[in-house]
Amino acid sequence: MAHGVSVLALLTVFATSTLAQAQPQELPVSEVASGIFVHHGKTALMARENDGATANIGFIIGESAVAVVDSGGSVREGQRLLAAIRSRTGKPIRYVINTHGHPDHVFGNAAFVGDGTVFVGHRNLPRALTARGQFYLDAFRRIMGEQLMDGVRLIPPTHLVDGTIKLDLGSRTLTLRSWPTAHSDSDVTVLDEQTKTLFAGDLVFLGHIPVLDGSIRGWLDVIDELNKIPAERVVPGHGPVSEWPGALTGQRRYLETLASDVRKLVARGAPITVAADTAAAGERPRWQLFDDYNARNATAAFSEIEWE
Ligand SMILES: [Zn+2]
Repeated sequence: MAHGVSVLALLTVFATSTLAQAQPQELPVSEVASGIFVHHGKTALMARENDGATANIGFIIGESAVAVVDSGGSVREGQRLLAAIRSRTGKPIRYVINTHGHPDHVFGNAAFVGDGTVFVGHRNLPRALTARGQFYLDAFRRIMGEQLMDGVRLIPPTHLVDGTIKLDLGSRTLTLRSWPTAHSDSDVTVLDEQTKTLFAGDLVFLGHIPVLDGSIRGWLDVIDELNKIPAERVVPGHGPVSEWPGALTGQRRYLETLASDVRKLVARGAPITVAADTAAAGERPRWQLFDDYNARNATAAFSEIEWE
Protein backbone atom coordinates (compact mmCIF):
# COMPACT_ATOMS: atom_id res chain seq x y z
CA MET A 1 0.00 0.00 0.00
CA ALA A 2 2.74 2.36 1.02
CA HIS A 3 4.49 1.48 -2.24
CA GLY A 4 1.28 2.17 -4.20
CA VAL A 5 0.90 5.58 -2.57
CA SER A 6 4.46 6.60 -3.33
CA VAL A 7 4.07 5.62 -7.02
CA LEU A 8 0.85 7.59 -7.16
CA ALA A 9 2.57 10.54 -5.50
CA LEU A 10 5.41 10.32 -8.00
CA LEU A 11 2.99 10.18 -10.89
CA THR A 12 1.18 13.21 -9.51
CA VAL A 13 4.43 15.14 -9.17
CA PHE A 14 5.40 14.12 -12.70
CA ALA A 15 2.03 15.14 -14.12
CA THR A 16 2.13 18.45 -12.26
CA SER A 17 5.64 19.32 -13.38
CA THR A 18 4.85 18.32 -16.99
CA LEU A 19 1.78 20.52 -16.86
CA ALA A 20 3.82 23.36 -15.36
CA GLN A 21 6.29 23.08 -18.22
CA ALA A 22 3.54 22.90 -20.82
CA GLN A 23 1.64 25.86 -19.44
CA PRO A 24 3.99 28.27 -17.69
CA GLN A 25 2.32 31.02 -15.77
CA GLU A 26 2.05 34.23 -17.79
CA LEU A 27 4.62 36.88 -17.01
CA PRO A 28 2.82 40.03 -15.81
CA VAL A 29 3.04 42.73 -18.49
CA SER A 30 1.58 46.19 -18.91
CA GLU A 31 0.59 47.86 -22.18
CA VAL A 32 2.74 51.00 -22.18
CA ALA A 33 1.53 52.17 -25.61
CA SER A 34 -0.89 50.67 -28.13
CA GLY A 35 0.27 47.12 -28.88
CA ILE A 36 3.45 47.42 -26.79
CA PHE A 37 3.73 45.28 -23.68
CA VAL A 38 6.47 45.42 -21.06
CA HIS A 39 7.39 43.25 -18.13
CA HIS A 40 9.10 45.41 -15.53
CA GLY A 41 12.11 43.57 -14.17
CA LYS A 42 12.80 43.51 -10.46
CA THR A 43 15.54 45.95 -9.42
CA ALA A 44 17.83 43.29 -8.00
CA LEU A 45 20.73 41.06 -8.91
CA MET A 46 19.81 37.95 -10.91
CA ALA A 47 19.05 35.17 -8.44
CA ARG A 48 17.30 31.84 -8.05
CA GLU A 49 14.46 33.59 -6.19
CA ASN A 50 13.63 35.97 -9.07
CA ASP A 51 14.13 33.61 -12.05
CA GLY A 52 16.76 36.07 -13.29
CA ALA A 53 13.87 38.40 -14.17
CA THR A 54 15.68 41.67 -13.49
CA ALA A 55 15.62 43.39 -16.89
CA ASN A 56 12.68 45.04 -18.60
CA ILE A 57 11.60 42.86 -21.50
CA GLY A 58 8.65 43.14 -23.83
CA PHE A 59 6.91 42.58 -27.13
CA ILE A 60 5.34 44.58 -29.94
CA ILE A 61 2.32 43.35 -31.88
CA GLY A 62 1.92 44.44 -35.53
CA GLU A 63 -0.80 43.61 -38.10
CA SER A 64 0.91 40.43 -39.21
CA ALA A 65 3.62 39.56 -36.69
CA VAL A 66 5.13 40.04 -33.26
CA ALA A 67 8.62 41.15 -32.21
CA VAL A 68 10.07 40.31 -28.82
CA VAL A 69 12.57 42.74 -27.30
CA ASP A 70 14.86 40.78 -24.97
CA SER A 71 13.96 37.35 -23.69
CA GLY A 72 14.81 37.53 -19.97
CA GLY A 73 17.25 35.97 -17.56
CA SER A 74 16.17 32.32 -17.78
CA VAL A 75 14.31 30.00 -20.14
CA ARG A 76 11.56 29.97 -17.53
CA GLU A 77 11.18 33.73 -17.83
CA GLY A 78 11.23 33.42 -21.64
CA GLN A 79 8.51 30.77 -21.51
CA ARG A 80 6.41 32.96 -19.25
CA LEU A 81 6.85 35.88 -21.67
CA LEU A 82 5.77 33.56 -24.49
CA ALA A 83 2.66 32.65 -22.47
CA ALA A 84 1.88 36.37 -22.02
CA ILE A 85 2.18 36.85 -25.79
CA ARG A 86 0.02 33.85 -26.62
CA SER A 87 -2.79 34.99 -24.34
CA ARG A 88 -2.97 38.20 -26.40
CA THR A 89 -2.30 37.13 -29.99
CA GLY A 90 -1.80 34.07 -32.16
CA LYS A 91 0.32 35.99 -34.70
CA PRO A 92 3.74 34.55 -35.47
CA ILE A 93 6.72 35.77 -33.47
CA ARG A 94 8.88 36.82 -36.38
CA TYR A 95 11.73 38.43 -34.47
CA VAL A 96 13.50 38.17 -31.14
CA ILE A 97 15.65 41.28 -30.78
CA ASN A 98 18.44 41.20 -28.19
CA THR A 99 19.41 44.74 -27.13
CA HIS A 100 22.85 43.39 -26.08
CA GLY A 101 24.51 40.27 -24.71
CA HIS A 102 24.06 40.42 -20.93
CA PRO A 103 22.50 37.34 -19.32
CA ASP A 104 19.35 39.07 -18.02
CA HIS A 105 18.49 40.01 -21.63
CA VAL A 106 19.42 36.84 -23.56
CA PHE A 107 19.08 33.78 -21.30
CA GLY A 108 15.43 33.31 -22.31
CA ASN A 109 16.18 33.05 -26.04
CA ALA A 110 15.75 29.27 -26.18
CA ALA A 111 12.04 29.67 -25.36
CA PHE A 112 11.54 31.26 -28.80
CA VAL A 113 13.45 28.87 -31.05
CA GLY A 114 11.36 27.49 -33.89
CA ASP A 115 8.49 28.54 -36.14
CA GLY A 116 10.82 30.63 -38.27
CA THR A 117 11.66 33.15 -35.53
CA VAL A 118 14.72 35.18 -36.47
CA PHE A 119 17.14 36.41 -33.79
CA VAL A 120 18.31 39.99 -34.29
CA GLY A 121 21.22 41.84 -32.68
CA HIS A 122 24.26 44.07 -33.00
CA ARG A 123 26.92 42.99 -35.48
CA ASN A 124 29.25 42.57 -32.47
CA LEU A 125 26.81 40.39 -30.53
CA PRO A 126 27.84 36.97 -31.94
CA ARG A 127 31.45 37.78 -31.04
CA ALA A 128 30.47 39.05 -27.58
CA LEU A 129 28.51 35.85 -26.85
CA THR A 130 31.41 33.72 -28.04
CA ALA A 131 33.84 35.63 -25.83
CA ARG A 132 31.70 35.76 -22.69
CA GLY A 133 29.07 33.08 -23.12
CA GLN A 134 30.69 30.14 -21.38
CA PHE A 135 31.72 32.36 -18.48
CA TYR A 136 28.12 33.55 -18.11
CA LEU A 137 26.74 30.01 -18.22
CA ASP A 138 29.20 28.77 -15.60
CA ALA A 139 28.79 31.78 -13.33
CA PHE A 140 25.01 31.75 -13.38
CA ARG A 141 24.84 27.99 -12.89
CA ARG A 142 26.49 28.72 -9.56
CA ILE A 143 24.35 31.77 -8.80
CA MET A 144 20.92 30.60 -9.98
CA GLY A 145 21.26 26.82 -9.72
CA GLU A 146 21.10 23.89 -12.15
CA GLN A 147 17.34 23.77 -12.34
CA LEU A 148 16.84 27.34 -13.48
CA MET A 149 19.83 27.17 -15.85
CA ASP A 150 18.58 23.96 -17.42
CA GLY A 151 17.88 24.61 -21.07
CA VAL A 152 19.63 28.00 -21.16
CA ARG A 153 21.51 28.19 -24.43
CA LEU A 154 23.36 31.05 -26.04
CA ILE A 155 21.60 31.78 -29.30
CA PRO A 156 23.46 34.38 -31.35
CA PRO A 157 21.60 36.64 -33.78
CA THR A 158 21.57 35.72 -37.47
CA HIS A 159 20.05 39.04 -38.57
CA LEU A 160 22.70 41.62 -37.69
CA VAL A 161 22.29 45.34 -37.09
CA ASP A 162 25.11 47.48 -38.45
CA GLY A 163 23.91 51.08 -38.58
CA THR A 164 20.13 51.42 -38.98
CA ILE A 165 17.70 48.77 -40.16
CA LYS A 166 13.91 48.58 -40.29
CA LEU A 167 11.74 45.60 -39.40
CA ASP A 168 8.16 45.38 -40.66
CA LEU A 169 5.53 43.77 -38.43
CA GLY A 170 2.69 44.67 -40.82
CA SER A 171 1.58 48.33 -40.74
CA ARG A 172 4.11 48.78 -37.98
CA THR A 173 7.76 49.61 -38.53
CA LEU A 174 10.53 49.21 -36.00
CA THR A 175 13.77 51.14 -36.51
CA LEU A 176 16.78 49.38 -35.02
CA ARG A 177 20.10 51.13 -34.54
CA SER A 178 23.47 49.76 -33.51
CA TRP A 179 25.66 51.94 -31.29
CA PRO A 180 29.39 52.33 -30.72
CA THR A 181 30.70 50.82 -27.46
CA ALA A 182 28.83 52.43 -24.54
CA HIS A 183 27.04 50.34 -21.87
CA SER A 184 28.47 47.31 -23.68
CA ASP A 185 30.03 46.64 -27.08
CA SER A 186 26.78 45.36 -28.58
CA ASP A 187 24.04 47.89 -27.74
CA VAL A 188 21.01 48.17 -30.03
CA THR A 189 17.94 50.39 -29.64
CA VAL A 190 14.46 49.72 -31.02
CA LEU A 191 12.10 52.58 -31.93
CA ASP A 192 8.45 51.83 -32.64
CA GLU A 193 7.65 54.51 -35.21
CA GLN A 194 3.89 54.28 -34.66
CA THR A 195 3.83 55.15 -30.96
CA LYS A 196 7.30 56.76 -30.69
CA THR A 197 8.24 54.28 -28.00
CA LEU A 198 11.97 53.63 -27.61
CA PHE A 199 13.31 50.39 -26.20
CA ALA A 200 16.74 51.59 -25.09
CA GLY A 201 18.07 48.37 -23.57
CA ASP A 202 20.79 49.11 -21.03
CA LEU A 203 21.80 52.33 -22.75
CA VAL A 204 19.30 53.83 -20.30
CA PHE A 205 18.99 53.06 -16.59
CA LEU A 206 16.52 54.65 -14.17
CA GLY A 207 16.54 53.99 -10.43
CA HIS A 208 18.93 51.06 -10.92
CA ILE A 209 22.50 52.41 -10.98
CA PRO A 210 23.97 52.42 -14.51
CA VAL A 211 26.29 49.46 -15.08
CA LEU A 212 29.41 50.12 -17.13
CA ASP A 213 30.71 47.24 -19.25
CA GLY A 214 31.88 49.15 -22.31
CA SER A 215 33.24 52.70 -22.40
CA ILE A 216 32.37 55.64 -20.17
CA ARG A 217 33.45 58.15 -22.82
CA GLY A 218 31.60 56.20 -25.47
CA TRP A 219 28.46 56.09 -23.33
CA LEU A 220 28.50 59.87 -22.69
CA ASP A 221 28.86 60.46 -26.45
CA VAL A 222 26.04 58.02 -27.18
CA ILE A 223 23.78 59.81 -24.67
CA ASP A 224 24.18 63.01 -26.73
CA GLU A 225 23.02 61.11 -29.83
CA LEU A 226 20.22 59.24 -28.03
CA ASN A 227 18.93 62.61 -26.86
CA LYS A 228 18.09 63.47 -30.51
CA ILE A 229 15.85 60.45 -31.08
CA PRO A 230 12.29 61.70 -31.61
CA ALA A 231 10.67 59.37 -29.07
CA GLU A 232 7.92 60.21 -26.61
CA ARG A 233 8.66 57.56 -24.03
CA VAL A 234 11.44 55.14 -23.21
CA VAL A 235 11.47 51.59 -21.96
CA PRO A 236 14.83 51.55 -20.17
CA GLY A 237 16.75 48.33 -19.62
CA HIS A 238 16.10 48.73 -15.91
CA GLY A 239 13.66 51.07 -14.16
CA PRO A 240 10.24 52.55 -14.95
CA VAL A 241 8.95 53.49 -18.40
CA SER A 242 9.48 57.26 -18.57
CA GLU A 243 9.13 60.36 -20.70
CA TRP A 244 11.77 61.07 -23.29
CA PRO A 245 14.41 62.49 -23.34
CA GLY A 246 14.09 63.62 -19.70
CA ALA A 247 14.87 60.04 -18.67
CA LEU A 248 18.51 60.61 -19.61
CA THR A 249 19.18 63.31 -17.01
CA GLY A 250 20.05 61.24 -13.94
CA GLN A 251 22.19 58.76 -15.80
CA ARG A 252 24.13 61.51 -17.58
CA ARG A 253 24.81 63.22 -14.23
CA TYR A 254 26.05 59.95 -12.70
CA LEU A 255 28.38 59.11 -15.58
CA GLU A 256 29.73 62.67 -15.82
CA THR A 257 30.40 62.70 -12.06
CA LEU A 258 32.12 59.32 -12.23
CA ALA A 259 34.30 60.40 -15.17
CA SER A 260 35.24 63.71 -13.58
CA ASP A 261 36.05 62.15 -10.17
CA VAL A 262 38.15 59.45 -11.82
CA ARG A 263 39.99 62.02 -13.98
CA LYS A 264 40.97 63.98 -10.87
CA LEU A 265 42.24 60.83 -9.17
CA VAL A 266 44.23 59.76 -12.23
CA ALA A 267 45.72 63.27 -12.50
CA ARG A 268 47.02 63.17 -8.94
CA GLY A 269 48.36 59.62 -9.30
CA ALA A 270 45.91 57.97 -6.92
CA PRO A 271 45.72 54.16 -7.07
CA ILE A 272 42.76 52.42 -8.67
CA THR A 273 41.55 51.14 -5.29
CA VAL A 274 40.99 54.72 -4.13
CA ALA A 275 38.88 55.32 -7.22
CA ALA A 276 36.84 52.21 -6.43
CA ASP A 277 36.23 53.48 -2.89
CA THR A 278 35.54 57.15 -3.52
CA ALA A 279 34.58 58.03 -7.12
CA ALA A 280 30.98 59.22 -7.51
CA ALA A 281 30.38 58.52 -3.80
CA GLY A 282 28.00 61.49 -3.66
CA GLU A 283 25.66 59.63 -6.02
CA ARG A 284 24.99 56.86 -3.50
CA PRO A 285 21.60 58.13 -2.23
CA ARG A 286 20.26 58.53 -5.76
CA TRP A 287 20.56 54.94 -7.00
CA GLN A 288 19.47 51.46 -6.08
CA LEU A 289 22.17 48.73 -6.05
CA PHE A 290 24.85 51.45 -5.76
CA ASP A 291 27.07 49.28 -3.56
CA ASP A 292 26.76 46.35 -5.94
CA TYR A 293 28.10 48.22 -8.97
CA ASN A 294 29.71 51.59 -8.25
CA ALA A 295 33.16 50.28 -7.32
CA ARG A 296 33.20 48.10 -10.43
CA ASN A 297 32.11 51.07 -12.59
CA ALA A 298 34.83 53.24 -11.05
CA THR A 299 37.46 50.57 -11.68
CA ALA A 300 36.42 50.25 -15.33
CA ALA A 301 36.36 54.03 -15.78
CA PHE A 302 39.80 54.34 -14.15
CA SER A 303 41.31 51.72 -16.47
CA GLU A 304 39.89 53.55 -19.47
CA ILE A 305 40.74 57.10 -18.40
CA GLU A 306 44.32 56.43 -17.27
CA TRP A 307 45.12 55.69 -20.92
CA GLU A 308 43.66 58.96 -22.22
ZN1 LIG B 1 23.37 45.11 -19.66
